[in-house]
Amino acid sequence: MIEAIKGQQNVCLALCRCDSCGAETSFNALHVAGKGGSAKLRKLALREPGMVNKSLIDRGWSVSPRGVTCPQCKQAKKTPQPIKEFAAMAANVHPIAQPGLGSVTELRTPTREQKRQIIDMLTAVYDTKASRYTGAETDLTVAEAIGGGILFGWVAQIREDLFGPAGGNAEMEALRDDLLKLVDTYGTQLARVNAQITEATRILDVLRMDRGELAKVVERVAAMSTKLERICKSVGPKGAL
Ligand SMILES: [Zn+2]
Repeated sequence: MIEAIKGQQNVCLALCRCDSCGAETSFNALHVAGKGGSAKLRKLALREPGMVNKSLIDRGWSVSPRGVTCPQCKQAKKTPQPIKEFAAMAANVHPIAQPGLGSVTELRTPTREQKRQIIDMLTAVYDTKASRYTGAETDLTVAEAIGGGILFGWVAQIREDLFGPAGGNAEMEALRDDLLKLVDTYGTQLARVNAQITEATRILDVLRMDRGELAKVVERVAAMSTKLERICKSVGPKGAL
């Protein structure tokens, strides 16, 4: 709210009051010249409201047809805006439906026609005896195959209700079997290599032992040879004489 008031010494002022919190500011502003009569009864009015608005804006206030706002309130109003934008963004994001659980927040539901399409497709690709999908099918591939905005959460719901558990599919099972075979094959090979290492280590130990024995024998022979040489030397000259 902006109004014309008289300040001390009858000075002409513009009084501005924040419409949100009531904070006030006042500054010199020209008033409409009096038209006679008692000054006290005369209604005061600003001569140049536009100038007053400009002064307010220069002071950090905002002025709009809804009223005036002090800098503090202006700041406070500004701050929550990103949160509002975020909330709007969040409202536009569709929650991801989880297979088997359905979706708590997803309000869209399949039409009768869509339900029939899902059932038809599940009948074609779900193996109720094995309680699993055939081939490489999943809730997602079924939803994508039908198209038309079908959510895989709907497929999951109808499959759970009328067909059976997700239980993977034939291809996944085949892969799992292959994997188990590989684990088995390499497990056997690993055991064999381990046994070979153990055997090689044992042989190495025997060889080391033999080497030790041989070294001792060589040492003894060398010692005997030295002794023999010494004996020959002591015998030799005497025999020659
Ligand atoms: Zn305020």
